[in-house]
Amino acid sequence: MKLKRIPSLIVILLLTSCSGVSPSGNHRSGSSSNKGVSGSSKPTLIPTSSTTYVPHTGSNPFPTTSGSVTPPVTDITAIPVNFTAFNDFHGQLDESGDYVGLAKLSTYLKDKKANGNIIINSGDLYQGSFLCNYDKGQLASYAFKYIGVDVHTIGNHEFDWGVNSILDNQLALEQNFLGANIYDYPKTGSEWHKAELGQEYKIINLYEGTECEVKVGVIGVIGKDQITSITSLNTTNHIFLDPNPIVKSLSRKLRTEEECDFVIASYHADNPDMSIADIDTSTGKPYVDACFLAHTHQFQDSMSNGVPFLQAGAFSEGASNVSFTFNKVTGVKTLISEGNVYLAGEGLTPDPVVEDIIDDAKEEQYDKFHTVIGTNTTGGQINTGSMSKFYAKISYEQALIEAPTYNTVGAMFNYSRRSLKAGDFTFSDLFETHPFLNGLYIFSVSESNIRTEMDYGIYGYIDPSVSIGHSDDVYHDILVFDYIGFHIGVNSNYEKYYNYFPSAFSASAEHEPYKLGFDCFHLALDWLEVHHNITNSDISGNGFFGGY
Ligand SMILES: [Zn+2]
Repeated sequence: MKLKRIPSLIVILLLTSCSGVSPSGNHRSGSSSNKGVSGSSKPTLIPTSSTTYVPHTGSNPFPTTSGSVTPPVTDITAIPVNFTAFNDFHGQLDESGDYVGLAKLSTYLKDKKANGNIIINSGDLYQGSFLCNYDKGQLASYAFKYIGVDVHTIGNHEFDWGVNSILDNQLALEQNFLGANIYDYPKTGSEWHKAELGQEYKIINLYEGTECEVKVGVIGVIGKDQITSITSLNTTNHIFLDPNPIVKSLSRKLRTEEECDFVIASYHADNPDMSIADIDTSTGKPYVDACFLAHTHQFQDSMSNGVPFLQAGAFSEGASNVSFTFNKVTGVKTLISEGNVYLAGEGLTPDPVVEDIIDDAKEEQYDKFHTVIGTNTTGGQINTGSMSKFYAKISYEQALIEAPTYNTVGAMFNYSRRSLKAGDFTFSDLFETHPFLNGLYIFSVSESNIRTEMDYGIYGYIDPSVSIGHSDDVYHDILVFDYIGFHIGVNSNYEKYYNYFPSAFSASAEHEPYKLGFDCFHLALDWLEVHHNITNSDISGNGFFGGY
């Protein structure tokens, strides 16, 4: 079936995504900059986002239902209770090598769903391809709604576009993400309060309305340290508490108050405390009956106290399956099987509905995938560190034009997302090297702080005529990504503090962080219109640094 979809949303988004390109194709001319007042109004720790939430209104091209109906079950002493989980899908809409892509994943999951399995996503659903990123995950969300995924766990990459995009994607998914350990930051008084973002658990009634009805509670959490993997500007008002005691206490609630027959944990982390498999003495049952893991893109398969712990790769590479039978008369659960599958070995055919819609989306953005916008003439692919050096150099040069009242001496970036292929490349190829569209800031930072970060392995470019010493008292203006500039650490009391460039927030800093009006990806589009080729001298030579 060929479905016709309404292209207006796509067109609008594409126009928006190109809005940073100047009509002339040349670099933007200098604009006024308001240099911060020395020493007076320092920023408070962790700036507060002022963005107002306006929901997306794009139309859903998918049918309202995939047509799956849970098969009837009649034997109350042997009720099948099956789970299928996947993790770290990362927007892999297209098939590529061992990554089967969304259309084949859809076939697999819909088949499991038709068998009565509960389908669980353990987080990092988005972020990784242009096709997923250009509309900030909306098309992918509609697809997962169509497939009928029962549970979505929040991952660190869900925050990459800000909390508003999480809310948008919840609308498209028609369900809330789980995130039981996401709390409001800071405390009110001496208490942490559960954030509105991140539902604690979801209860699913299998075979609902029949004598074989089984009540399943799924708890979703994220690793507590993952808050430091997210641009702190996107987690200003949130903290991730230790998930393990939260899983245990919610398990008790689900088993007692909610009378769940099964409790399942979905961790966007690979290292839960294995004591969640221990027997809770107040219920006489393990805290969880199975645990699905994520985040490190590994295949994990272990057992503790008879409880399976599973992770299935990433990018539509695999899926985890756990099957029980449940005797509703005795309350006894029997684990029948558990393990991971490589989806490339499953002989899957693409789901035609999903395939058609993805093909249409690609067709509507044909030029982004097929028009050459530049050539990498370095003789090989440009790795992620060298792409950062390229972005740092062109951003530094643009900062001199856009913010001439600052004495910017260079730029410091963390590594890019993907390498750039050798030879001709497209908008999509370039976009995937740096999909985050991070804000860029001029920071006033001590020499010693700059030195420490250069030695740590950050990439960048500093004007070769400027020597960076080791003084705590000499400050320079440097250009940084928001991710590293506002990078936070979290101490054992769950207090946040800036840990990469603390000098920028000290009394000695000469001005507040100043936000520039461009992002490096759109700047690169402008730059390529002028230069076309990225050569070795754009990524190496005097002034460049970075990498271990
Ligand atoms: Zn992750």
